Amino acid sequence: MTADTTPGLVCAHHHLYSTLARGMPAPPLTPTTFLGVLEQIWWRLDTALDLEMLDWSAKLGALEALEAGCTAIVDHHESPNAIDGSLSVIAEACAEVGVRVVASYGVTDRHGPEGARRGLEENDRFLSDGGRGMVGVHAAFTCSDDTLHAAADLAVRHGVGVHVHVAEGPDDGGAVDRLRALATDDWLLIHGVHLPDDHGLRGTIVHNPRSNMNNAVGYARPARFANPVALGTDGIGADMLAEFQLAFVAARADDVTFSPDTAWSWLEQGWSLVPEARSDRVRWTYEPMEPWHLAYTPTVRAIDVDIDGEPALRDGVATRVDPAEIRARAGEQAARLHARL
Ligand SMILES: [Zn+2]
Repeated sequence: MTADTTPGLVCAHHHLYSTLARGMPAPPLTPTTFLGVLEQIWWRLDTALDLEMLDWSAKLGALEALEAGCTAIVDHHESPNAIDGSLSVIAEACAEVGVRVVASYGVTDRHGPEGARRGLEENDRFLSDGGRGMVGVHAAFTCSDDTLHAAADLAVRHGVGVHVHVAEGPDDGGAVDRLRALATDDWLLIHGVHLPDDHGLRGTIVHNPRSNMNNAVGYARPARFANPVALGTDGIGADMLAEFQLAFVAARADDVTFSPDTAWSWLEQGWSLVPEARSDRVRWTYEPMEPWHLAYTPTVRAIDVDIDGEPALRDGVATRVDPAEIRARAGEQAARLHARL
């Protein structure tokens, strides 16, 4: 590999359904807490989604990932009024663009036990059909113990981990005790901002610095955990070089001795989650692609991307899809979605 190339980057936590949220109408009440952000923004948006919106949202999200040199997305999905088949819509949208995806449906009891059952069924259906995925759980604080156990059991049955938000805000403080006996090394524990240092949960912690700052939930200080740490965007695009830079500067704001090498190791941890991405190739506008350079070079862009040995991006332009068409169709679906809000 030359100094201006890297493997494909991995986004270890994304919400492709949120791509069309940009520019959405302001909520009736301005949220002042983390729970308020969920209630006023994300839980209104996910309820309004149908499968056609999801299709173009996922295609645009996958396109933007590709354009940023991210060749693998670990997605966490919720669309309570369009559950059945939703994971296949996401998987097919990503396949069309050429980007790898590990899909999961975020099970929750927010819509009653029937909603939780249908979420579990969608994970089961997708994985049984041979889909690349995990079992999704929204978060312990929106699930009954029965649902948490059912999700963990389903994951064991399919030989995959559970992908769950943990202690993102103070409202999820009870997660540790409720998940400790269930979590295994293949779980993805998203955020962990309010976890104690010695929480004892097994799994990879996924740090989402931009999202955490945006939601004012506090600094997760991921370097304090014994767990492996990976980086995600929590649905705000899939520019993983930018997320690495934010992870670095957020850590640096807390500790002036923090090294870019540590933040880079979090980015590299994505390859343990989606090992195939390591064989993808990205050529960049900058060299050398090394942590101490990249921490201080905010404008690096992907030029060429090969996924699975085949071209997916050339001179910054996607080769397998028409980017202008995706942007136009996604724009139409965004207008339809915003009208429902
Ligand atoms: Zn998330």
